[in-house]
Amino acid sequence: MRMKLLGKQWMFEEFIPGELKSAFTAFSVDREILETKTPYQKISIIENIEFGRMLFLNDLVQVAEMGDAAYHEMLVHPGLLTHPKPQKVLIIGGGDGGTLREVLKHPVREVLLAEIDKEVINVSKQYLPSISQNAFEDRRTKVFIEDGMETLKRYRNEFDCVILDSNDPDGSMAHELFTYNCFKLVKQALKPNGIFIAQTGYLSDKFGKQARKEMKKVFPFVWFHRAFVPYILEDEHTFSFASSQKKYKEITLSALKKRYERRSLVTSYYSPEMHLASAVLPKYLQEST
Ligand code: SAM
Repeated sequence: MRMKLLGKQWMFEEFIPGELKSAFTAFSVDREILETKTPYQKISIIENIEFGRMLFLNDLVQVAEMGDAAYHEMLVHPGLLTHPKPQKVLIIGGGDGGTLREVLKHPVREVLLAEIDKEVINVSKQYLPSISQNAFEDRRTKVFIEDGMETLKRYRNEFDCVILDSNDPDGSMAHELFTYNCFKLVKQALKPNGIFIAQTGYLSDKFGKQARKEMKKVFPFVWFHRAFVPYILEDEHTFSFASSQKKYKEITLSALKKRYERRSLVTSYYSPEMHLASAVLPKYLQEST
């Protein structure tokens, strides 16, 4: 939602249905880049003096040029580094290309990306090239323009990792992706030692807690990593991690360091130390999430 205040335009973020409405987040619109509507959503790109170019879908921030590493590195590397040899990965959503960029840093054989709205890929490549960094052109990348639920239905015992990088369930086409039905399909599409990672909103978001409750009905081991993403001002962001393998939770710092070195990863937020630290919760949260 746009509003003029203090002599300039502001982009006020919308609220997610069902979440507490107690504070607004607004970004100054220092330059208009684009606003368009697709059959799926409203896409806006603005320039902000602090965060650079920013992508919004239905007036909810998705990614910004400044600080995206905290989000994309913490969504991808805890899962892919915990997996001993990730070869085939599926990303659901991720139309800005940041998650794809990070997955391709690993020696994977193939990455499938199922994005329902081609326009998000088009505008992200054109106006936010620093996010995807030509990841869509990598010979290991295969893009499907379809609902991720349809993609999942086609695979059994196929993927080492599935990564959910969709919008929050704001009543849009992302809703189904945070349900028991979707998680059942994810489990079927994963190999037995596969790993599922999902962006699950802010620490305080009810939908994230509910999503982990549903995950626990499908996967025996569910926890989450958290990071403060600079352009997500309200709260820490959570990245939920689900698998059938208990050993993944017990991975050691030295094992992570060895893999990090062996894969010659280059990151600016993620580190093996951050991997372990980001899964430690404040006392009051240890039971409730
Ligand atoms: N980083 C963002 C966040 O924190 O929410 C997500 C970024 S990415 C742009 C979200 C993408 O998910 C959008 O491009 C949207 O079109 C896509 N998406 C939403 N629902 C989908 C579905 N059911 N299947 C495939 N892609 C979907």
